[in-house]
Amino acid sequence: MDESASLDKPDVIIIGGGASGLAAGKEMAKAGKKVCVLEARNRLGGRINTLIVPGFSTYIEAGAEFVHGDMFATKSLLKEGGIEFNSIEGNYYRIRNGKFQNPKNLLTTFSTLLSKAGPLERDMPFSKFLDQYLNEEKFKNVREIAIAFVEGYDAADIKKVSTFALREEWKIFGQSDQYRLKSGYIMLIDFLSKEIIKHNGEIFLSTVAKEIKWKKDNIEVISDKGEIYSSRKVLITVPLGVLQSKPEDEAHIRFFPGLPGKLEAAKSIGYGTATKVFLEFKEAFWESSENQIRKMPELGLLISDTPFTAYWTQLPNKTPLLTGWLAGPQAEKNKNTSDEDIINMALDALSYIFNADRSFLTKNLHAGKAINWRTDPFSLGAFSYSTVESNEAKKILTQPVEDTLFFAGEAISEGTAMGTVEEALANGIKTAKELLTHF
Ligand SMILES: Cc1cc2nc3c(=O)[nH]c(=O)nc-3n(C[C@H](O)[C@H](O)[C@H](O)COP(=O)(O)OP(=O)(O)OC[C@H]3O[C@@H](n4cnc5c(N)ncnc54)[C@H](O)[C@@H]3O)c2cc1C
Repeated sequence: MDESASLDKPDVIIIGGGASGLAAGKEMAKAGKKVCVLEARNRLGGRINTLIVPGFSTYIEAGAEFVHGDMFATKSLLKEGGIEFNSIEGNYYRIRNGKFQNPKNLLTTFSTLLSKAGPLERDMPFSKFLDQYLNEEKFKNVREIAIAFVEGYDAADIKKVSTFALREEWKIFGQSDQYRLKSGYIMLIDFLSKEIIKHNGEIFLSTVAKEIKWKKDNIEVISDKGEIYSSRKVLITVPLGVLQSKPEDEAHIRFFPGLPGKLEAAKSIGYGTATKVFLEFKEAFWESSENQIRKMPELGLLISDTPFTAYWTQLPNKTPLLTGWLAGPQAEKNKNTSDEDIINMALDALSYIFNADRSFLTKNLHAGKAINWRTDPFSLGAFSYSTVESNEAKKILTQPVEDTLFFAGEAISEGTAMGTVEEALANGIKTAKELLTHF
């Protein structure tokens, strides 16, 4: 290689321009390293995707939408970027067996679960925990609510998810406000990418990493178009679904020499899926219906015993938009259901929840859209959850290979906010700081 080319050669290639890769890139670019981000899609953000869709009067968050509490890395970056956010508002309703339920049931359920899981000394899959500790008839309700929550909120398989990880989640659930970014999560991605460019970094979109050939301090990434990108180190931030993928999958990356230990470890972390459905109505009929429809004034969050475990509004923004959440086994079961059929299923569920004529809902529907993350080739699912084996797997994945290959991303993070943007950011920043010490 001639000298001018080697002068241009980046210090670090980052594979994946999502929250984790960009937060890492900003950290390293600001520290004076020449950073090059390769992103498979024609946009940045990965599982953050603020979309303008024709027919909708507001943008929709196809992926991440909420900041789940006072998250350190997220809030620090929002502050640094001068990005505005506000607390979500509204009332919380629950419908079960066709009737309103006390919304506080969930917190009562958590305290029962904690009283049983608190003294647990050895981790076990959640289904085993339920069988061993909540098997009696008097816990039937607790079991049903807990399973719906774990499958719905965590998008997890109860036969695999770690009871210890859930225990940490239950302890803090509902204790702090949830936020939305005022102009969408994309603002955070814009801020991070601009920082990388400002500090001499480069970003290549529509560039799928297909092969990584490596020796100590010598990396070659070969793209889907056959281009070769060279650097001293590489940081791989692709989603867990891609690390777990098969050679025939579009996003699959082959390593030369291979990294069987890392890829085996990746397979033992849980990866759930979700489909979001967006239904904008002509009016917020739940606020003040004149007919038989069940009223839910100031509706913020609605939990039900339909496949769409949650629906929510945009309060304090008053757009008459309901977002439906199909997750975990229900989303997996419907991975090949067409978007149109998903919208119809979501309307059927609303008809039951609101006791509303299906024709009334169809007539009032202004715009509908479904986003299926399971079939997205560059995610192959939604977000990770901890299994009993996750801690060991994360230790393996966070160990750099020959000071040259590094892994980061939400699934590898050792924090307790499973599967969130916070974990993606925090892990990206932490790994970047570690990587910098290897130069
Ligand atoms: C439907 C949904 C709702 C969610 N809701 C929330 C929420 O409300 N709050 C919250 O905190 N979190 C939420 N999350 C989770 C959050 O979005 C993720 O945890 C976070 O964005 C992951 O960031 P990441 O950088 O680790 O991965 P990603 O954002 O997936 O970034 C990885 C990047 O790698 C790219 N890539 C993949 N393969 C290749 C390849 N071979 N070559 C080059 N590039 C490649 C991908 O295109 C992607 O851009 C949600 C996720 C989904 C899907």
